[in-house]
Amino acid sequence: MIQMHNVFMSYQPESSALADINLKIPKGDFVFLTGQSGAGKSTLLKLVYADLTPTRGQVLIDGVNLTRLSRSQIPMLRRSIGVVFQDYKLLPNRTVLENVAITLEVLGWGKRDIGKKVFHILKRMGLEDKVNATPLRLSGGEQQRVALARALVNDPKILVADEPTGNLDDENKEAILQIFKEANNRGTTVVVATHDRRVIENSHRTVIRLDKGRIVEVPDVQG
Ligand code: ADP
Ligand code: ADP
Repeated sequence: MIQMHNVFMSYQPESSALADINLKIPKGDFVFLTGQSGAGKSTLLKLVYADLTPTRGQVLIDGVNLTRLSRSQIPMLRRSIGVVFQDYKLLPNRTVLENVAITLEVLGWGKRDIGKKVFHILKRMGLEDKVNATPLRLSGGEQQRVALARALVNDPKILVADEPTGNLDDENKEAILQIFKEANNRGTTVVVATHDRRVIENSHRTVIRLDKGRIVEVPDVQG
């Protein structure tokens, strides 16, 4: 479960990127975070994976207060959270296989187990023919699927995605959303930031709407 209590986030003293955010996202939920560019979506996601600490207020993941985590505890938290970025952030000089294997190498998995698990997820993503390709030889939709494979290969408790369909055509959007649904069905809590109305309208999921750093619409999830 993700909880925020009275969270404020300011990058500069005189302005708030987020103001008085209160929310509860139950374990196993699939939530869209929406709002115009600059509304605070990325900032909110960064608070969840402890890339930022709030200026005020508390962020809790499964009851653990992130504002009280020490630097050395952050890697532990990150291992349970898969993150997907709009610009993929794949390593250009590594193969698809290597890009996805990194997640498990960091966790100390053995080579054999890594191989099995990575092939399995790449197959699920329809990328079995691309394991030895480097990212720049792939289409945008394929690159995003590699990024998703990397984020999901260790079955994280939480998946956080920032505008994951931003650069994709409808067919690829649909494929990416399908992968989110499958991850959610496997028990992963999914939080997707998007300003794509069509993606949200077709999903029948909970929507948290931000406007100028404040939550303006939260059926069922405000805590
Ligand atoms: P969104 O993801 O909804 O587009 P962001 O969370 O990126 O919104 O940004 C929210 C506000 O915070 C915006 O006004 C943005 O300019 C500002 N902001 C975001 N990141 C930084 C930063 N690193 N330094 C200063 N201001 C920032
Ligand atoms: P998005 O809109 O996709 O959420 P942005 O374009 O707002 O992303 O932000 C891209 C990067 O630039 C982020 O790392 C963010 O923290 C940083 N950033 C955004 N706005 C500002 C700003 N006003 N000043 C400094 N950095 C910013």
